[in-house]
Amino acid sequence: MVHSDKAAGEAALGSCPLCRRGELKLSYAEEDIPGFGRLLLLTYKCEGCGYKSNDLIPVKAREPASYKVKIEGVEDLKVKVVRASSGFVEIPELGVEIKPGPASEGYVTNVEGLLARVEEAASTLQGDREAEGSLKAFLAKLKRAMDGAEVFTVIVKDPLGSSALVSEVPGKVEKQSLSWEEAEKLRRQLVGVAFEYR
Ligand SMILES: [Zn+2]
Repeated sequence: MVHSDKAAGEAALGSCPLCRRGELKLSYAEEDIPGFGRLLLLTYKCEGCGYKSNDLIPVKAREPASYKVKIEGVEDLKVKVVRASSGFVEIPELGVEIKPGPASEGYVTNVEGLLARVEEAASTLQGDREAEGSLKAFLAKLKRAMDGAEVFTVIVKDPLGSSALVSEVPGKVEKQSLSWEEAEKLRRQLVGVAFEYR
């Protein structure tokens, strides 16, 4: 047995909200993210219907905040993205918006990984003839962004304070506290998000 001071475990959350037959199980494992702190990676699973969802939550409560980073080259693609299901992600130059919803997942990645997730989501739209032209142009621009050949901005906002951008370069990420009004406005958009089970 490996000894560790990191928390990990399982919990039963009662009947699955989707199928009402199976039992919803939560497993969690602690992870230390340099520049962010400790967080719990959460996996919700139902063996009855196969539902599975990932999320994360910081061990210590954090203030609702907005993070902004300008990506100017390959090196910047390493900027870390901690995204909880309550996180709003925007890349204005690419027209990308990721909003919390019922299928919202939490993950830890970097900007490169975030773009790969966007590419994967966009690729599922392929085959829709009407959208094909603009989708092709979008995927080409995304590819350039993934190669570090496109300057763009990544913005992460979280009314619960669970999401963040983290860079090893001091001053690279701009952080701003969300006002009570801003946080409340975003919080109202969180309906149906997985953290309701917490
Ligand atoms: Zn189920």
